[in-house]
Amino acid sequence: MNTNETIAMYGKYVMPTYTKYPLAISRGKGSRVWDNEGKEYLDFFPGWGVGGLGHNHSVVVKAIKKQAGKLIHIANNYYHDGQALLAKELISQSFSGKVFFCNSGAEANEGAIKLARKFGNSNNPQRNEIITMGESFHGRTIATATATGQKRIGQGFEPLLPGFTTVPFNDLAALKAAITPKTVAIMLEPIQGEGGVRIADKTYLAAVRTLCDEKNILLIFDEIQTGMGRTGEMFCYKNLGVTPDILTLAKSLGGGFPIGAFIAKAEIADTLQPGTHGSTFAGSPLACAAALATFEAIEKGKLLEKAEHMGAYLMKKLNALKKKHAVIREVRGVGLMVGVELTVEGKKIYEECLKSGLLINCTQAVVLRIMPPLIVKKKEIDQAIAILDEAFTRCT
Ligand SMILES: *Cc1c(COP(=O)(O)O)cnc(C)c1O
Repeated sequence: MNTNETIAMYGKYVMPTYTKYPLAISRGKGSRVWDNEGKEYLDFFPGWGVGGLGHNHSVVVKAIKKQAGKLIHIANNYYHDGQALLAKELISQSFSGKVFFCNSGAEANEGAIKLARKFGNSNNPQRNEIITMGESFHGRTIATATATGQKRIGQGFEPLLPGFTTVPFNDLAALKAAITPKTVAIMLEPIQGEGGVRIADKTYLAAVRTLCDEKNILLIFDEIQTGMGRTGEMFCYKNLGVTPDILTLAKSLGGGFPIGAFIAKAEIADTLQPGTHGSTFAGSPLACAAALATFEAIEKGKLLEKAEHMGAYLMKKLNALKKKHAVIREVRGVGLMVGVELTVEGKKIYEECLKSGLLINCTQAVVLRIMPPLIVKKKEIDQAIAILDEAFTRCT
C-alpha cells in the first residue's frame, strides 16, 4: 500500500489513541528505517526506547527464527529452559533476588505495585501507600496511570486508585514530608524519560535509599526506558550508585520483541505466592529467546562501552550546536539517553527533522529526546547533527 492508503485505513479501523505523523514504515535495519515509498530515515528514537539494539539485530532475528520453529508458547504452570536462563541472566546482571516476567512496561510496574502492597499489607500495622514523582511516567493501566505524576495521563479516567501520593522530583524535603506510617514504597525513574530526560541527583538518591532503609520502605526503580545498556551500564542505577529493592524493565529487554520483567531483592522475592499474580503470555519461550539474544548482542558488541563513548560524542556535538543556536537552553544526558531543552517549543524542529530524514522525539513541549540505538556509528551521529543544525537554522 502507499502511505496515504495506509493512513486512510487507520482512520477507518484503528482507534485514534496516538498523535501520529504521516509516515508509514515498512522496513528497518540498524539505525535506519524505510517508509512505504522507499525513503530512508535515520532513526534516533527507535520504537519509543524499544530499539536499544536498533532494528532487526541479526543475533535477535536468528534467535527468534530458531525458537519459533521449536516452541512459541507454553503455560506458566510448566517449565522451560529459556525462562530459567533469562531469570539467571537478569539476576547475575543486577542484584540477588528473583524475577517475575510479563509483557510490557505497564505490567512490570503494575506487578511491582502489587508486590509492594502485598508486602505492606502483611506488616503490622498494615502499610499500602506509594509515593511517586512529579512528571514521572509509569504506564497507561489504571494503577500505573495513577502512579504517573502527570495529571493529563489520568484525566477522564476517574476514579483513579487510592493510596498514591506524588511529590516533586529531586526534592528530598518534600519526599520526607509526604512519608506517613502507611507508606510502603517510593517509586521513581532514575532518569525521567517522558518527563524530559531529567536525571536524579546522586546525593538525592543516596538520601532516598537511606530513608527507605531506616523506615523499611521499598525503593522501586522504573528502568523500563533507562535499562539494558542505554546509559553505558546495564542498568542506570549502577551509574548513580544506588541499588533499588525492586527494578522494573521492558522496552528494549527483548530487542524489539515484547517482554517485561520486574526483579525483587531476595528478602521480598517470595512475597507473591502461587495464585497471587500471573500472566498468560508472560515469559514465553519466544520472548525469552529474544531477551537472551539481546543480552548476548550487548556483550558481543561491547555495547555498554559503545553507549558511553557514542553518548559522549553525541553530547559533544550537541554542545557545539548549543554554542551556535541560542534556542538551545541545555544539553543533558547519561550515555545514549540525551535531552536537548529549548527555550521554544520543539514541535517545529521535530517536524523539520522528520522531513529531512531524521526521527527523534519531543517531550514536555520543549525537550528534544534523542536516544539512538547502542549500535549507532559516529558517521550516523554526524549525519543527524547536520540535519539538526539545518533544522535549527531554518526554524529559529
Ligand atoms: C514506556 C514506559 C512505561 C510503560 O511501558 P509500556 O510498555 O508502554 O506499558 C513505563 N515506565 C517508563 C519509564 C517508560 O518509559
